[in-house]
Amino acid sequence: MSSSSYLVPDWAEKVAERLGSGPHVVVTGISPSGTIHIGNLREVLVGESVVNALKARGEEVRFVFHADTIDPLRKIAPGVPEQYKRYLGHSLSRLPDPESCHTSYAEHFLGPFEEALSRMGIEIEILRSHELYESGFYAEVTKKALDHTAQLRRILQEVSGREMPEYWSPYLPRAASGSLSGPRVVQHLPEECRVVFVDEDGREGSADYSKGEGKLGWRVELAARWKALGATFEPFGKDHTSRGGSTDTADRMAREVFRYPVPERYEYEWIQIKGKGAMSSSKGIVLLPGELLDIMPPDALRRMVLGRDPARALDLDLVEGFPRFMDEYRAETEKNPVPFAHLVTVAQTVAGDTAAAAGMLRKGGYRDAAADYEQLAEDLAYARNWTKTWAPESLRFEVLDLAKIPEAAADLNADQRRYLTAVAGALEEEMNGDEVQNLLYEKAVERGLKPKAAFGAVYTVLLGKKSGPKAGPFVAGLDTDFVRDRFLKVSEDTTTDGTES
Ligand SMILES: [Zn+2]
Repeated sequence: MSSSSYLVPDWAEKVAERLGSGPHVVVTGISPSGTIHIGNLREVLVGESVVNALKARGEEVRFVFHADTIDPLRKIAPGVPEQYKRYLGHSLSRLPDPESCHTSYAEHFLGPFEEALSRMGIEIEILRSHELYESGFYAEVTKKALDHTAQLRRILQEVSGREMPEYWSPYLPRAASGSLSGPRVVQHLPEECRVVFVDEDGREGSADYSKGEGKLGWRVELAARWKALGATFEPFGKDHTSRGGSTDTADRMAREVFRYPVPERYEYEWIQIKGKGAMSSSKGIVLLPGELLDIMPPDALRRMVLGRDPARALDLDLVEGFPRFMDEYRAETEKNPVPFAHLVTVAQTVAGDTAAAAGMLRKGGYRDAAADYEQLAEDLAYARNWTKTWAPESLRFEVLDLAKIPEAAADLNADQRRYLTAVAGALEEEMNGDEVQNLLYEKAVERGLKPKAAFGAVYTVLLGKKSGPKAGPFVAGLDTDFVRDRFLKVSEDTTTDGTES
């Protein structure tokens, strides 16, 4: 049911065209140092689009997510206990889970993201960098880097404009303390895949780089892993691609030291949450992919997160703008889609009763949607979850209490009451949403009642508030006898103010 337009968008097709013939290795990645959010998902989805575009051209493609699990902890993420300060510089894969639910700090943040990727059906190989280092996968490129220390240092200085210390090394061995940031490499023993270092306390030690006893520094690692993985394409967020940034250094290191052609790239922009700002784990402004999969299907999430063009910044509106987004999405994938706002109404009216929801939809004129129970149950769950977390006040209401007339009904005036009587007299079981909407409007016009007062009366007697979902489909979906009965009961209540027409 996925329409191909957003599985292979135009911009991805252009990338695939530039890439030419393969085999190809598309690499994405992130350091699991904090919550992995929707902005990070954008990177994976950019990769997925390019993978799809390449496959559509008959190319052979490997799609990789490089989780930087061996990376050192650089700062304390929001929600992580302050005592983690003593672990600064230690590998994420070797730290305890701050909430004790996973095997490590890295897994705690990687786990939910991995689960979301799997819920979305994304076919991607997840590689953990600590495992790659431990298996010797990076031994060859590490040796090369150490052999070219002076050249790498010069590139780093020229590109970043920063003076590097004399003892600078592309390799960060792990000290006995666990820290990757203290030790200084003093000797390279290439035959043994080993470096000798002096740690922060002046003690000498050694590290075997074919066994993961350390790692390459980030900027060198980027170029080294292109070579080791055979990467041909990698998307980057704009923080990496700024002038003098990590891609600038990696590009030169790849060409001049690793003798590897720079992979094609695509620069994607940040995602902001409307009213909150740019997504950022370190600022605690995050939205997890899993949260959004609770309110929409995977393909809708793909469409939302990629936007028209991921090279442009995106302002996510999950409140006022969400129903329209869902309607646009559904219009592309379904023949006669139910407006999302109506699903929200139905979901709140019937609680969890799918059969009752189907009844409401049939009466509202949505026969196709009413026929597919499984799909309907899923759509109702999305609508319910959205209502719980995001819906604006205007779209929320309490589930109707069939037995009780709302107290606010006592405030209706005689004109409103007579209007309800007139509607009750003309309302028929087989009317659909549009017909009921027309009826509600016509009866108001006939009686010279302003639409706001008329519709306000309808909402008041049914929901106990002055506004609500679109009245026609809402009333049409309810049991007709119940509505008639309620309208008449409220009108009988009083004719005391004497404004007889
Ligand atoms: Zn955990």
